Amino acid sequence: MRRTLMKKIFWLGLSLVITCLITACIRAPLNTINQVSTIDALLAGSYEGQIPLEKLLTYGNFGIGTFDNLDGEMILLEGQVFQVKADGKIYRPSLKVTTPFASVVQFKADYSFPITKETDLKGLEKMIEDSNPNKNLFYALKIKGTFQTMKTRSVPVQKKPYPPLSAVAKTQPVFTFEAVSGTLVGFRSPVFVKGINVPGDHLHFISNDLQSGGHVLDFRLLKGTVEIDVCNQFFMILPEEGGSFSQVDLGRDRSKELEKVER
Ligand SMILES: [Zn+2]
Repeated sequence: MRRTLMKKIFWLGLSLVITCLITACIRAPLNTINQVSTIDALLAGSYEGQIPLEKLLTYGNFGIGTFDNLDGEMILLEGQVFQVKADGKIYRPSLKVTTPFASVVQFKADYSFPITKETDLKGLEKMIEDSNPNKNLFYALKIKGTFQTMKTRSVPVQKKPYPPLSAVAKTQPVFTFEAVSGTLVGFRSPVFVKGINVPGDHLHFISNDLQSGGHVLDFRLLKGTVEIDVCNQFFMILPEEGGSFSQVDLGRDRSKELEKVER
């Protein structure tokens, strides 16, 4: 009788340990930005996918980026990957598709606040700035809202030899949507991240009806809620061998190019 009870306790304990181990393995640590490649490598035309989406998802359930051959804008929201291609439509890519550049986080809001007055992108940036004085940390930003207008862009898929991003941006399609509800997904990064990521705010958008989205250029936000996950850890996943990343010149200051490409 006692032996059976001991056995039961042993197996229960073992299954608990296994469950904890599995959960720890699939859950990325909190408050940690995980990034594939660097923004300067992307600016220089390093568009070859480096890691598959199924791997990227082990690093987080929330984030932004692009796809192999620069095939559109990525939005990762609640563990689902969306791809806004140059035709303006939203696709659900296979998890075997790779990414050359992405930043993701296991999103858990540290604080939130409502937006009760109409604002554009600049105004929203100011509201976020006023909400937290520490300029030297990373912030994952999730803003659900109703927008009077939303202006986004996407990027057209590229072939080798890859042109630099500034050349691609000249041909980028721009979309304007009206009366749309959805979520802004992105990051605010500190100035010292220059060359690695985008200092300041970088936001992508996806509508609730999954009909519109892209890299955010501007908007008129009527009302919404800002959720902020403060991140004090930054982890990089760099391509190991070969490919364009190994040859790209990362010694040059590309901040002017970045400004043109992002805004
Ligand atoms: Zn973007």
